Amino acid sequence: MKRATVAIVGGGQAGAALAARLRAGGFDGTITMFAEESRLPYQRPPLSKKYPSGDWEAERLLLHPAAFWREAGIDVCVASKVLAIDPAQKSLETEQGRIFSDQLVLTTGARPRPRPQGFGGRNNVFDLRTIRDVDALRPYFRTGLHMLVLGGGYIGLETAAVAASAGFSVTVVERAPRLLARVACAQTAAEIRALHEKQGVRIMEGRAVTRTEGETALTAVHLDNGARIPLDLAVVGIGVLPRSELAERAGVVCSNGIRVDFLGRTSSSGIWAAGDCANFDFDGQPTRLESVQNAIDQAESVADAILGAPRAYRPVPWFWSDQFDTKLQIAGLSRGFDHVIARSSSRGKSFWYFRRNQLIAVDALNDARAFMEEKNSLKGGRWFIPLTSKLQVSTLSTCLRLDASQAPGWPGSHRETARPCALPVRHAKPAHPSDTMCRSS
Ligand SMILES: Cc1cc2nc3c(=O)[nH]c(=O)nc-3n(C[C@H](O)[C@H](O)[C@H](O)COP(=O)(O)OP(=O)(O)OC[C@H]3O[C@@H](n4cnc5c(N)ncnc54)[C@H](O)[C@@H]3O)c2cc1C
Repeated sequence: MKRATVAIVGGGQAGAALAARLRAGGFDGTITMFAEESRLPYQRPPLSKKYPSGDWEAERLLLHPAAFWREAGIDVCVASKVLAIDPAQKSLETEQGRIFSDQLVLTTGARPRPRPQGFGGRNNVFDLRTIRDVDALRPYFRTGLHMLVLGGGYIGLETAAVAASAGFSVTVVERAPRLLARVACAQTAAEIRALHEKQGVRIMEGRAVTRTEGETALTAVHLDNGARIPLDLAVVGIGVLPRSELAERAGVVCSNGIRVDFLGRTSSSGIWAAGDCANFDFDGQPTRLESVQNAIDQAESVADAILGAPRAYRPVPWFWSDQFDTKLQIAGLSRGFDHVIARSSSRGKSFWYFRRNQLIAVDALNDARAFMEEKNSLKGGRWFIPLTSKLQVSTLSTCLRLDASQAPGWPGSHRETARPCALPVRHAKPAHPSDTMCRSS
């Protein structure tokens, strides 16, 4: 009897999770993973954390050692780019030839946005997506150079932090009015900004590059306020675009990524997608997440569906970012929030996001407990407002004053009268004696 076959396009976090889950779930057919990069699947987060400075070596980034793939009987074809897919034939084309497969899974990830004018084709300008990108950057890692970071999102800021810690003088230029404008509230951004400035990073928000200097190398940029910033190297961290070109060319429905349903099925039967390249409905909106959590969980959900045990992918998104001595952990998705409550404790600070009085996300700075509380409450479908100390209650009151116009129905300083949700609430058993918990009905 012919063995079932699964072909995976893309050897990153999602592709690796999918292949491993298929085998662990008892799939005994052929699994072939095509990876454009010349390496076994590896994790990207350290590329902007421990890897640039040499704290970690490439071997440590591998998701699994070579023996794992061998023993699991998973063929990983590295340096093997898929050139086209044919949904009707269920086949894919590589430079080595055409391969037919029963199921085809696209885990093609994302690529950096094209560099702005003046940054392309310069030998001292770097993206930060692959080991190769960072290997090209690493020789520059020595004290005293000036690095320009274009883009004040997580990857730009992590790179700024690791460079400043290594003795660079660093300037971050962000075109939006503030850092992290797409992904975090003003309060979180202000904390991160203060953290960087304390370490000597120069942050220039609301500034656009109007002109660049240099021939083969970029030597300086001019900003729209007239400032000229000389530099030795630049890192561009202005976001990514989903790699959906194979699917688009094959007529698979795409819109900001490859559209998939709650099982990871695309518009074409037998073709699936997961990870950074996939766009699915979350919270009633088309959504593309760029995180390790999403890559793994969505890929595993696709694997389960292929294994014949389908379950809807309903994620609790979470993410982290390490900058200097601060670990920022994010649970939930803050999109569409209408007010934010700040809390601080002996551990750290956290910012709690609400939409129509429902808690939707938290940013926790060096406060793993706040992160876990929110993550668990989202997982359990509960809206969980922990008030555990006088300090926190008074912080909430202070914050109330800041957010008063936007915080109807938030409790005063007395815990006994707390009603975090203006919606009808049903009290459940508190997880902690002094917590107040409510659930939207
Ligand atoms: C510098 C950096 C730091 C990050 N830090 C964090 C963090 O702290 N926390 C967090 O949660 N997330 C972080 N992320 C995001 C996280 O790494 C991604 O969300 C995750 O890697 C997505 O996995 P993926 O498998 O969907 O895509 P990828 O990991 O990008 O893998 C896709 C792979 O597919 C390959 N491919 C594409 N097209 C083809 C083709 N036609 N043929 C063959 N192969 C192809 C690509 O070359 C790539 O190797 C970070 C990302 C970067 C770049």
